[in-house]
Amino acid sequence: TPHPRAFVVGHPIAHSRSPLIHGHWLAEHGLPGTYERVDVHPDIFPDFVRSLRAEGWVGGNVTIPHKEAAFRLAEVLTPRAERIGAVNTLWFEDGRLHGDNTDAPGFLAHLDASLGAGWPEATGVAEGRAALVLGAGGAARAILVGLLERGLHRLIVANRSAERAEGLTALDPARITAIAWDAVPAHLPETGLLINTTALGMAGQDALALDLAPLPDQAAVADIVYVPLETPLLAAARARALPAVDGLGMLLHQAVPGFSRWFGRTPAVTPALRARIVADLGSHR
Ligand code: NDP
Repeated sequence: TPHPRAFVVGHPIAHSRSPLIHGHWLAEHGLPGTYERVDVHPDIFPDFVRSLRAEGWVGGNVTIPHKEAAFRLAEVLTPRAERIGAVNTLWFEDGRLHGDNTDAPGFLAHLDASLGAGWPEATGVAEGRAALVLGAGGAARAILVGLLERGLHRLIVANRSAERAEGLTALDPARITAIAWDAVPAHLPETGLLINTTALGMAGQDALALDLAPLPDQAAVADIVYVPLETPLLAAARARALPAVDGLGMLLHQAVPGFSRWFGRTPAVTPALRARIVADLGSHR
């Protein structure tokens, strides 16, 4: 039988670290198989997806700007992908193309690994404090769905474009409130978990300018930007001695379910894998 071949598809795709992650795991497990970058223009993305079976792919990852298109083209969706409206992982099962969104469990797995599974109690979000999500793009949507699945009942979302934040409250109007971007500082005293999902803080972008002094002492701060690894927001959290959760762990953990579906082994997010990607990020900055 031919070696299993999986892909990561995007446009552009040259910057993707996913081949490094999956290549590391293939070597670690001594598995035959490949994981390849594929650059596909949005105009021909549906043709690419329809050709997957004939071209012999076992599945792959989908990144910007194709996640919504992949959601429409998958034949079977997980309930989570259905709710998020975006697919980042495709695989064949019983002859049909399945789609899932692993950004949500990836974010939560990294939170569990960084803060310990008791973080809802430790940060106070289990008992009334809010999880405050900055940003209202695709990543924010996935993270909100993940936090809802985890049973959090008080979620606040703030975004520069207010109507996008309003739109996300439809996921669960009883548990998600939208606030104005300018109202973020006033909500920090009641926040147990602060999460940046905007592009602010990314290399080449403005920093996220937010004074973290009003956050409670039990609060934790997460950023999903991972270039640089230590964003100005995370540096500010550390300066206040608050736990700081970086964005790289989400990227590593979101890759796990795809690998196990395509290659039949469940890989681990190890310090060695992390060090390998950190070294690569450093050499390309
Ligand atoms: P989207 O394009 O869907 O959303 C971008 C978000 O950033 C919007 O909320 C947008 O606000 C906000 N934003 C951008 N520029 C500014 C600015 N100058 N001031 C205020 N807000 C700004 O992107 P995604 O949700 O897919 O991704 C967001 C970020 O998360 C990216 O940096 C991406 O690299 C990272 N990411 C990391 C992952 C990981 O595994 N670690 C996974 C997925 C994403 P507005 O609506 O007003 O434009």
